[in-house]
Order: sequence, then structure tokens, then C-alpha cells
Amino acid sequence: MSATLSLSRRFLLRVMGAEILAPALRTLGRGLLSIFTLHRFTDPDLGVVGHDPALLRYHLAYLRRHHYRLFSLTDVVRQIENGGTGGWGGGAPAVAFTVDDGYAGFARIAAPIFAEYDCPVTLFVTTGFLDGQLWLWWDRVTYLFKHTQRSSLVFRLGGEERAYRWSTSGERDEAQHDVLRRLEWIDAPLREATIAGLSRQFDVEVPASPPPACAPISWDEVRRTAKLGVTFGPHTVTHPILSLASEDVCRWEIEESCRRLRQETDAWVPVFCYPNGEPRSFGQREVEATQRMGCRAALTTVRDYAAARHARPQGALERFALPRFPYPDDTPHFVNVVAGLARLKQRLHRLHGGVLRPGLTSA
Ligand SMILES: [Zn+2]
Repeated sequence: MSATLSLSRRFLLRVMGAEILAPALRTLGRGLLSIFTLHRFTDPDLGVVGHDPALLRYHLAYLRRHHYRLFSLTDVVRQIENGGTGGWGGGAPAVAFTVDDGYAGFARIAAPIFAEYDCPVTLFVTTGFLDGQLWLWWDRVTYLFKHTQRSSLVFRLGGEERAYRWSTSGERDEAQHDVLRRLEWIDAPLREATIAGLSRQFDVEVPASPPPACAPISWDEVRRTAKLGVTFGPHTVTHPILSLASEDVCRWEIEESCRRLRQETDAWVPVFCYPNGEPRSFGQREVEATQRMGCRAALTTVRDYAAARHARPQGALERFALPRFPYPDDTPHFVNVVAGLARLKQRLHRLHGGVLRPGLTSA
């Protein structure tokens, strides 16, 4: 039975990408807004594995060919503040693109592709990363695993101790994956101390600057790509999970990242992006701090449409917890989201008592 379901699901997904269905699918998605989150882009020269530039080009061509609306985050904020007046509800489905963290590959690979299709895109930058003060913690952990000669690890975190042993690169990757997962939901100071311990145990020093594969976009490239139409948003200074940080650190991460971004470019948007972005990674405190910095919306990684047809004006808390879809790396899933079919699935999920949205509701 489940094999049959999986077969029909696969067939349905394949059909979804078919050109002949595109006009009907676009009608189905009228009035919906999908915001996508992207991260790294594949760069064989540097060994970076990420989104395929050719597929991105294909998807942008698809959206253009079938007359989807391509929104900038400024359009998104304006439409959401207006509650869809001015043609929001009845129009073709709208799509917006965001790229998180601020890697160099964005300028080299992605920005020219978005420009080619005249498609707005916003890069969310970790400002301390661009300022050369740090490289992102998951890249440092990956670097340590890649360069160590050791084949075992006793990983200590808090009061817990865990032993790993590997003899193949596959087993080493599994250990690395598990360590990365365990390091995600802890406050930054403890994480830094743990990474320092890892470095000692592996007998590998983390260089002060990242290797080219993990390097940030420079502020000069920010200004250069701004001329292509790219806009930029703040994504904190050091990429901590804000809800785990102290009051002072949380405020500084938000204020300083907004300040640095506005100092370096005029092409900034008043939209904040929470690191990690799960509902538990931010709350009222973070919403208020971003509002104090003049932000008019903020983005999460909760998977849902940011606006639906007949939407009423959204409350402040909803605007500061806008959902996004992870960018699907295949066409059927991509079409599934932009044409609104992911919504049907979510309705079914809700009917069965599931909860997909964060606990935040408008006040
Ligand atoms: Zn991020």
C-alpha cells in the first residue's frame, strides 16, 4: 500500500513540473506569496556543494515564462502592511528570494543569475563575518574534522561525554554531522569553548581567516552587486541563536548588525532575519529590538506561505515572524510550492490536528 502511495506521489510530483500544466497551476496559486531561503551555491572550483546555478536559472526562467510576480522584500513589506489591497489577493502567485549568511559565492555565482532574470533578491549578512572578525562556526567544525589525522573523539558538552570512532571518511562524516547537530542549540560562549576543545583534541589549529570556500562576500562586492539590484538585510553580527543569548548580547547583535549594514550600503532593507529561524530561536524580546532599529518585518524558517489570498492586514507579531520555504533543489517540489500546492498539504495536516505555524499570534 505504502509503495503504491509513494509511486503515485512520485508520479504526481513529476507531472507537476510539466510545462503543459503550468497555466493551470498558476491559477491555483493566485494571491499566494512564497518566500524562499537559499544558502550556498555549487562551486566545483572551491569544492562547495550547494544550490545548482543551472537549476536556479531554469526556475527563474519558469517563473518569468509563466508570469509569476517576482517580489522584492520591499514589495513584500508594502503588500503585507496593506493587507493585500492594490491587487494582492487576485493577482498571479508572488515569489520572493532570500539568501542567508553572506558567503562570497553569492556575488560570484548567484547575483548575476538573479540579475539576468531581473529578479529581486535579498542577501542577509552576518556583519562580523564580512568584517573579518570571525568565520561561521559550522565551517570551523567542518574544517577541524577535515584536517585532523585522528580517528576518534571524546566530545564533551556541558556535563555530557560522547565517544566517536571512525575508519572511513563516511564514518567521519557521520561523527561530524552528529557533532554539528549537538552544537546547534547551545549559547555561543559554550559553543566556542567546545570548538576550542575540539581543536586541541584534533591537534588542528583553526586559521584566523576562512579558506576561500568558506569566505564572506566583501563590502565592496556588496556595493557592486547592489548595482545589479540586490538588496541586503541584517542577520546579526556573529550568528548566535538570539533566544539563548543574554539581554545585552541579544540587543547588541541586532543593533550592531543593523548599524554596520547601513554604514556600508544604501541598498539595505528594513527586514531582519533571525539566525536558525525556528520559532524557539526568537520571541517578543527579539521582535521589539528589531522594531526599535526601524525594521518593519522579520523572517523565520517556518515553512509556510508569507501571505494568502484575501489576507487581512497582519499584526506586528505576524510581520516579525514571516515564514519562508527552504529552496527546493528539484523542479517538481519548486513548482509544488510556488503554485500553492504545499498549502493543500498543510490544510490536510491541520485537519489532522498538526501544528505548522509558530505560537506567535497578532496582539
Ligand atoms: Zn543564517
